[in-house]
Amino acid sequence: MKKNLEVTTHIGCKVLCKYCPQSKIVEAYGKLKSKNVMTLSDFKKILLNVDNKDTKLIFAGFSECFLNKDSVDMIIHACRQGFKIDIFTTAVGLTKAKILKMKKAGVSFYAVAFHLFKSDRFFKKDKFYKTVEFFKSNIESRVCKVVEVRKVFSRAGSLFKVDKKPGKLVCLNNFVYQNVVLPNGDLFLCCNDFSLKHKLGNLFENHNSSKKIESERKKIVSLMKKEDSDIACRFCEISSCFDKNNNIRFGTNKDFLEKDDRFKDKIETVNKLKQKIKEKIKKENI
Ligand code: SF4
Repeated sequence: MKKNLEVTTHIGCKVLCKYCPQSKIVEAYGKLKSKNVMTLSDFKKILLNVDNKDTKLIFAGFSECFLNKDSVDMIIHACRQGFKIDIFTTAVGLTKAKILKMKKAGVSFYAVAFHLFKSDRFFKKDKFYKTVEFFKSNIESRVCKVVEVRKVFSRAGSLFKVDKKPGKLVCLNNFVYQNVVLPNGDLFLCCNDFSLKHKLGNLFENHNSSKKIESERKKIVSLMKKEDSDIACRFCEISSCFDKNNNIRFGTNKDFLEKDDRFKDKIETVNKLKQKIKEKIKKENI
């Protein structure tokens, strides 16, 4: 099974985007009494348990990766190990020197998303766009765009309270296979599990495709089908629930279903997804 692995290079992101529940992750991780910052050698150790053939890396997770002083060296190392890499960044901490260092090392990315963020502390529009342009003119990537947050999600109920979803669920983004590794090697369900509710294993000790971790993923999928299960997905906008007539409710995506030219591409994507889920329901008889 193809997977994505999000890398959280440190805990406690000082960018403090308005829609990111940092206090939740800081509180939850604090209870583990583990190291807050991933070093280059930690990262190398983690990659020994990840296969570049079935897993793409995403530097994102629960914090801005460029605020970790080792992040550029981690990216260079991952590139040399043959990993496909995506990056999701606010560009805070991304300097010209870091961009040129990646260029010199021959780093290229699969997809890059510059997150147009809202933060009282850091956002300077001119600086942000200058960094984006400098990056684009020096680093190769298949896709590179500025992504704006149009709608604030609850992050599975971590940012604000949401109603618990009943019924059988499916993750519309298949994030059961896009897990997040933390500085102590712990692997958690997804980037919406800010409360660290679902630990799947530890990548210092377990291979990302080990039986142990795969069976934890399967457990989550089966809990999604249990009506009374207490999992983060029940509070997450990315999950979709089915009623008895197999009607799919698209949560956040329903916004895109309105007849509006601006959302044409999104409508197409959602419709494809809808079709895929219908086939899945039919196949699995759920
Ligand atoms: S439904 Fe939400 S909480 Fe569950 S795996 Fe998907 S993104 Fe994560």
